[in-house]
Amino acid sequence: MKAGLVYTGTREIENGWVHVRQGEIVEVGSGPPPQAGEVVDEPNCVAMPGLVNAHDHMYQWATRGYVPDGTLFEWLRALYPVWARIDADSVRVAARAAMARLLLCGCTLSTDHHYVFPRGRPGLFEALVETARELGLRFHPCRGSMSLGESKGGLPPDSVVEREDAILAHTEGMIARYHDPKPGSMCRVVVAPCSPFSVTPELMRDSAALARRHGVRLHTHLAETLDEEHFCLEKFGRRPLELMEDLGWTGDDVWYAHGIHLNDAEIDRIAEVGTGIAHCPSSNMRLGAGACRVEDLLRAGARVGLGVDGAASNEDANIATEAHQALLLARVRATSPTALDARAAWRLATQGGAECLGRDDCGSLEVGKRADIACFRVDDLAHAGIKDLVAALALAPPARAQTVIVNGQVVVRDGRLLTADEDEIAREVAATSARLAG
Ligand SMILES: [Zn+2]
Repeated sequence: MKAGLVYTGTREIENGWVHVRQGEIVEVGSGPPPQAGEVVDEPNCVAMPGLVNAHDHMYQWATRGYVPDGTLFEWLRALYPVWARIDADSVRVAARAAMARLLLCGCTLSTDHHYVFPRGRPGLFEALVETARELGLRFHPCRGSMSLGESKGGLPPDSVVEREDAILAHTEGMIARYHDPKPGSMCRVVVAPCSPFSVTPELMRDSAALARRHGVRLHTHLAETLDEEHFCLEKFGRRPLELMEDLGWTGDDVWYAHGIHLNDAEIDRIAEVGTGIAHCPSSNMRLGAGACRVEDLLRAGARVGLGVDGAASNEDANIATEAHQALLLARVRATSPTALDARAAWRLATQGGAECLGRDDCGSLEVGKRADIACFRVDDLAHAGIKDLVAALALAPPARAQTVIVNGQVVVRDGRLLTADEDEIAREVAATSARLAG
């Protein structure tokens, strides 16, 4: 593929090209490109590594706009009863919307943290995996879980929690069925109990052991709000990260969503053990949760990626927007315009996310990496004539991508999804949202 500017993640190549064979990048250069069977030519675009989404809850696409002014705990308490109504069909409809939106905005690799499994509704996890396959998204689905209901001192109502033996057995089944550890993999399963206030310490510990037995990654929410910190101090006499350390949840096979309320020693510890943080600036601002100490984490050497978080606390799924928000929020936090520059923000949105997900074959446009590429127009009204195109795309994030390639396959062309009908998805999600609203 050719582009007016190829931004590899480290180099900026004018009139550059990326040569792809069987889904892998075999050469990157400028000037006359080598012969190729199919040529994607985008002279008015910046081509960059496909964006990586390191935290999401795709079923929430069907419950956007609830509790627009609530804290995390208020918002969760209002939404749990609505989420208790989901089934495989509503998860499929919501995931098609969330994945379509991610792809249209240049995301090529995404995780999804699914933790609501109402009793007697089979096929939810399967619906997520099948939808990613259908739409052509590289996918790391997390088998999430909740086991600590209200009656045992947890936050969620008892109606949405599961038995722990059933959670572990189902998780093992999903790993056996879908996890592909090979390089270039399009699907890797993750073990992901929801949070310290919705699962028991025993399930956290057993989940970590199960994940390590199967060589899969671990993910959960951590240090998102002060309410969570107070909950952990009161119930367990531990700060959230201390609790997770006790339960075997530190290491380079773990990444946490948010990581906002971490003290200096905890930031050093996160960096030291190689644990990742998925920073979700739009969701954190929407819920008034706080601002992640991204600059301090990066300075300490931690792995930091970006996530859109569920659409019920973002109302969108655009990783370019998250790069923009991350840049602005870091500067507000530091009262300094040098806190996070555009290239560092793009690194979070690409390489940083790939590191959180344990992918050394994704996140940059280099020989030997997978051909996951996002092309953004820079001749449109928002960007035409602007200086420093790479900075421009973070300062004025694009509403959607022009062309998106996943594993060498074109899935978005001329800003339109090739693998599904966007208007049909919108109609279906409207109907499903109305049904879930009751
Ligand atoms: Zn989340």
